[in-house]
Amino acid sequence: MENISLKEVQAAVHKFVQERNWETPPEDIVVHMLEEFGEVARNVLKLKNYGGKHTDKEPINMEEELADVLYCLVKLANATNVDISQAFVDKMEKNRQRFPVKN
Ligand SMILES: [Mg+2]
Repeated sequence: MENISLKEVQAAVHKFVQERNWETPPEDIVVHMLEEFGEVARNVLKLKNYGGKHTDKEPINMEEELADVLYCLVKLANATNVDISQAFVDKMEKNRQRFPVKN
């Protein structure tokens, strides 16, 4: 898989989940997403050496953890019948109207 659209990401997650019978209720997906988001937060704190406790032995892998969050978000969209690509386009249009650029 190379650079793919968000629609293709959603289809890929759907296929991945279906092939493994990994369908789970939305509430379980939310819990999983929060776990993954916690891993992103830990990486951010490591990047900032928050608390001065980060050592070189602790790897930082933002790419992998952000991908995990995206996987969960898209899996949740699938489980709740949301076209996440269209939802994003629609929401950004609302945001543009709500927060116009000031010149
Ligand atoms: Mg992870």
